[in-house]
Amino acid sequence: MRGISKALKIKLEVLLGNDAKLSDGAFERELYSMDIGVIPFSRLLFKTLPDLIIRPKNIEALKKIIKVADEEQIALFPRGLGSSGLGGVIPTVGGIVLDFSSLNEIDELDRENRMITVQAGARWSDIEKFLRTEELAMRAYPSSFFSTVGGWIATGGYGIGSFKFGHLQSQIEAIEVLFPSGEVKSIKQDDEAFSRFFGTEGQFGIILTATLRLRTKPIKSMPHLIYFECVEAVVTFIKDMINAGIEPYHIKYVDSAYLEKTNKLLEEKLFRERDAIVVTFEDAAEDQKFLSFAAKQGIHADEYLARYLWHERLFSMKRKGHGSTPLACEIILPLENFAPYLNRISQMAARFKVRLNVESHIIGKDDALVLVHYDSDVRELRTYLAHLTLIPLLTRLGTTFRGTPYGLGIWNAPFIHDKFDRQMLRCYKAYKHEVDPHNILNPGKFFAARTKWANIPGMLLNPAVFRLITRMVPVFSPIIAQPILKEKSTKDETALEKTVYSCVKCGNCAANCPAYLVTQDELLNPKNKLYLAKKLLEEEEIAKIDAEKVFLCLHCGMCRDVCQNDLDLLTAWSELEKRLEDRFGKPEKAIRNFVSAMEESEDYWRFIYAQKV
Ligand SMILES: Cc1cc2nc3c(=O)[nH]c(=O)nc-3n(C[C@H](O)[C@H](O)[C@H](O)COP(=O)(O)OP(=O)(O)OC[C@H]3O[C@@H](n4cnc5c(N)ncnc54)[C@H](O)[C@@H]3O)c2cc1C
Ligand code: SF4
Ligand code: SF4
Repeated sequence: MRGISKALKIKLEVLLGNDAKLSDGAFERELYSMDIGVIPFSRLLFKTLPDLIIRPKNIEALKKIIKVADEEQIALFPRGLGSSGLGGVIPTVGGIVLDFSSLNEIDELDRENRMITVQAGARWSDIEKFLRTEELAMRAYPSSFFSTVGGWIATGGYGIGSFKFGHLQSQIEAIEVLFPSGEVKSIKQDDEAFSRFFGTEGQFGIILTATLRLRTKPIKSMPHLIYFECVEAVVTFIKDMINAGIEPYHIKYVDSAYLEKTNKLLEEKLFRERDAIVVTFEDAAEDQKFLSFAAKQGIHADEYLARYLWHERLFSMKRKGHGSTPLACEIILPLENFAPYLNRISQMAARFKVRLNVESHIIGKDDALVLVHYDSDVRELRTYLAHLTLIPLLTRLGTTFRGTPYGLGIWNAPFIHDKFDRQMLRCYKAYKHEVDPHNILNPGKFFAARTKWANIPGMLLNPAVFRLITRMVPVFSPIIAQPILKEKSTKDETALEKTVYSCVKCGNCAANCPAYLVTQDELLNPKNKLYLAKKLLEEEEIAKIDAEKVFLCLHCGMCRDVCQNDLDLLTAWSELEKRLEDRFGKPEKAIRNFVSAMEESEDYWRFIYAQKV
């Protein structure tokens, strides 16, 4: 792959004119070299800093970019909100990051056929807002409500509502895809190629639009919380319920550790600290059927507390600023292996002395999407690295229970043979060669991770070698992990420090920050301001021009209201501004210009109005 010369950058600027925003500032490139995962030393292995970031404003611009990239053999890394954590959006060889934030139009609402067509950069929360005044609603959506439609097609497809509506693929009528050849194809659900774009992380083409099937908006949601003595009892109950023909909208499992954490968060022991499920109905008749089914079994279903958990479905990373770095493994498991898997992983976690939290969307009558997460702290580097090694172990163990890794990206690429059988993989590789012969789309990941240094470190990510490593890790990692076991004191941390190290980088705040949404300036994105704060706290170099952007804030508190981790962002902004003012002075003129630009902006008032509807 080639890098981007000055001449090529100028060529792109001229070619795209006002149809795209190009940036290559040092700080911005750094922001685009990450996703929500925190993997120390990844820069040593890959060229994670992109040469250029392009935010196309329309599809014509995108076509021009892909044409140049294919001709010049420049790597392209499509990026939605960067809320995935396996390295799928991270550049491996520099190149161009294609940011879809401006391709977020709702193209058409077809009320008669109950369908909506949206651009790939539209967020699920945008669609929900758009449909607020309609009789129609989305079928299923990810708990990362703030992520993009294109991103969820490319990565996952299971989330809230999957029990009733199945995989995202079955809810999409058609997608439009742009191929490296410059061709745009509309691919319908019954087309043979359709499934190739789901879960293949942008390897074959760029998703431009999707036509989603909608449903009649339910009058209300009726969640019920049920506790169980053990996880085996959970599985038996779910199976019996399904066999009785009861059809909830959604079923979510949470373990005792999850409810213990929730109690801590609420500072009250409201929930019993046991295995539990939240079963949610949107149809009154089904709900009644369920209640009598539960009553016959002598099971009490709590509604009041269930409401809280149902509301929290969109805040799955809430930990109330416990200054730690969350680590997670996601795997799809047959329901029959759910209980044995959970029992085995808790033994494994005990060796690493970490407390696992398990949540799971039950995604059909036979399968569960299991999310196992635990806390570590990247500031305790040695322990953190040892804790990181637990993730592939949890994944490997899942595969022995006939589980399938949910995503691949860079870090799960060694599990590709566990995700696709030989025939499927052969077919995917042939298709990649056919549609992307120069391998410009998301290279160096998914099929195989390719590192710097002539790919010598990359040998470790070869599936066979990696398998050997995962056999050795259980011996060494728990020993390395030991010293961290003392609780780190966070007593003396300032509000800013606490906030910076508790931000999980999910990006929910970005989807609700008027300053960012109106200016579309990544440096105003609250998540990115916290990254700048982190650099400040760690005494890394910061440019004045980047620091000034922090002051372009309305102090409206919208970010705090939606923060996944309940962080006190307003206090953090005040402290950050104070520290930057002491160092660089206050950019009074820039602030005045910003405030008047916001007041004059139609987008701003549209945003404010939408919040009130
Ligand atoms: C709090 C939280 C909750 C989550 N809940 C869920 C959940 O319920 N279900 C679930 O599946 N995941 C979940 N995730 C993971 C993540 O949010 C999803 O994978 C999400 O849909 C990714 O969307 P994104 O816009 O952030 O995509 P990104 O992370 O930006 O991109 C993901 C991949 O898609 C590719 N891509 C992005 N846009 C395009 C495009 N237009 N064309 C081609 N390729 C593209 C990228 O190159 C990358 O490989 C959660 C994450 C968080 C932080
Ligand atoms: S307080 Fe500032 S950062 Fe937060 S949402 Fe408002 S403008 Fe954005
Ligand atoms: S500030 Fe909160 S909402 Fe924003 S990225 Fe961090 S944890 Fe997520």
